[in-house]
Amino acid sequence: MHQLTLAEIARGLADKKFSSEELTKTLLARIAQFDPQLNSFITLTEDLAIEQAKAADARRANGESGALLGAPIAHKDLFCTLGVRTSCASKMLDNFKAPYDATVVAKLAEAGAVSLGKTNMDEFAMGSANESSYYGAVKNPWNLEHVPGGSSGGSAAAVAARLLPAATGTDTGGSIRQPAALTNLTGLKPTYGRVSRWGMIAYASSLDQGGPLARTAEDCAILLQGMAGFDPKDSTSIDEPVPDFSADLNTSLKGLRIGVPAEFFSEGLDPRIAELVHNSIKELEKLGAVIKTISLPNMQHAIPAYYVIAPAEASSNLSRFDGVRFGHRCEDPKDLTDLYKRSRAEGFGPEVQRRILVGAYALSAGYYDAYYLQAQKIRRLIKNDFVAAFNEVDVILGPTTPNPAWKIGAKNSDPVSAYLEDVYTITANLAGLPGLSMPAGFVDGLPVGVQLLAPYFQEGRLLNVAHQYQLNTDWHTRSPAGF
Ligand code: GLN
Repeated sequence: MHQLTLAEIARGLADKKFSSEELTKTLLARIAQFDPQLNSFITLTEDLAIEQAKAADARRANGESGALLGAPIAHKDLFCTLGVRTSCASKMLDNFKAPYDATVVAKLAEAGAVSLGKTNMDEFAMGSANESSYYGAVKNPWNLEHVPGGSSGGSAAAVAARLLPAATGTDTGGSIRQPAALTNLTGLKPTYGRVSRWGMIAYASSLDQGGPLARTAEDCAILLQGMAGFDPKDSTSIDEPVPDFSADLNTSLKGLRIGVPAEFFSEGLDPRIAELVHNSIKELEKLGAVIKTISLPNMQHAIPAYYVIAPAEASSNLSRFDGVRFGHRCEDPKDLTDLYKRSRAEGFGPEVQRRILVGAYALSAGYYDAYYLQAQKIRRLIKNDFVAAFNEVDVILGPTTPNPAWKIGAKNSDPVSAYLEDVYTITANLAGLPGLSMPAGFVDGLPVGVQLLAPYFQEGRLLNVAHQYQLNTDWHTRSPAGF
C-alpha cells in the first residue's frame, strides 16, 4: 500500500479497496520502522491522524468524494498547526504550540487530507542540506551518508522513502526543488502569491512560497489544488482564479517552445548532470517540443543579491523571537539586555545567527543603499530577463542543482559552497516565478533533477510538461533500496 501515489490512493479509496484508517495505520507503522534511520519527522501526530482518517472515511461513506479525502500527508514544521508543536527545527520554538492552523494546513484538512505529523527541516528554513536542524540532520534514503537537500529535507526524505505519498514544503531559494532533485521526487514552487503564507513562519517574506513535494507531477497537481487560493489574511496572496491543475496534464507537447539558458551550463555544473539534462531535452524533443538556446544575462548576480535580500528580511522577521513575545527564554536574566542577548544566543543555531548578523548589517544606516537597495535593483533586472525570455519560449529548462547530494558534513566549514548549490533555483524566487523539479536520472546512485520554469501563474504548464515526460520515462518510479 505504501507504494501508491496520491492519484492511486484516491482511486483505491473511491473503489473501497482500503480505508483511510487502514492506510494511515500502515504508514504510521512504516514511519515507526524506518524513520529512526532518516530522522525525517520532528513530531508525529498518530492519534490526530487516526481521528482525521476515520472522519475522512465517514465523509466518503456519506457520499463525499475528492482526491485528497483520506489521503495521508505531512507538513513541514514551519506551518502552524493548532495545538501541535511548530518548531521551525529551532531550539527557539522547541516548546511552541501554535494557537491556530496556517491557511495551508486548514485548507488541506478541509479537503480531508490526513496529517501524520511535522517534518524536519533546516532551522528556520535556512539551508540546502537539512543539517542545521536543532533535532539533527536528515539522511537521504538513497544513501544514508548523504544529505537529502534542504530546507524541506524531512518532507523529501519521508516521501522518497515511501513513508507517505506527499508532503508540504516551502521554497525561498530552492527548498522544494532542490531536495526534490536530491531525493528523486517531483517538487513545485508556485508563483509568489499563489499559496497563502498566513501561518507559515516567515524566513524571507518576499521570497517564501509553500508548495507540494510528491513522486509525480500528477500528485503535485492534486496537492497544489488543496493548497492554492486567495487568502484575505495574507496581504501578498493574489486574487487570481485557481485553475484545475490536473486539467492540462495530458495536453500534447507538440510545438511547445522550450528555452535552455546558456548560462545554466557554465562552470560548476557536474558534467554528468549536464549530460542527463541533455537526455531529458532529447526526450522532450521526441514528444514534439522545440528547443531554443536563450540567455539570462543577469543570472550571475542572483546568488549575491539573494544572500543580501534573504538575510535582511530574515533579520527583521526573526526579531520577534526575543524570549518575551515568542520563543526560548534564558534562565535568570540580569536585566532586559541580558535577557535578549542570552535568549537569542541560546535559542538560535549558528547558521541562523550568521544570517541575522549579515541581514542586520545590510540594513543598517549607511549600508542600506549599498546592499539591500542594490540587490533589489538586481532583482528587477533578473525579472526583466525572464520577461524577455518568455516572449520567445513557453518554458525554460535546465539542471535543478549543479551537483548531486553531498556527504553529510562535507560543506560545514564552507557555507558559501553550500550557498552556490542554489545557483539555478534562486532566480525563480527573486522573480516570483513558478518552478518545478522532476527526476531525470542518477549519478553514482544518487538522483538528479531537471528544473522547469514557466511564466507567472502557469503552474499547469509545468505540471503538463513534467507529466508528459513522466509518461515516457521511469526515473520517478525508482525507489531507494532498503525502504
Ligand atoms: N538554501 C537557501 C537558503 O539557505 C534556500 C532555502 C529555502 O529555500 N528555504 O537560504
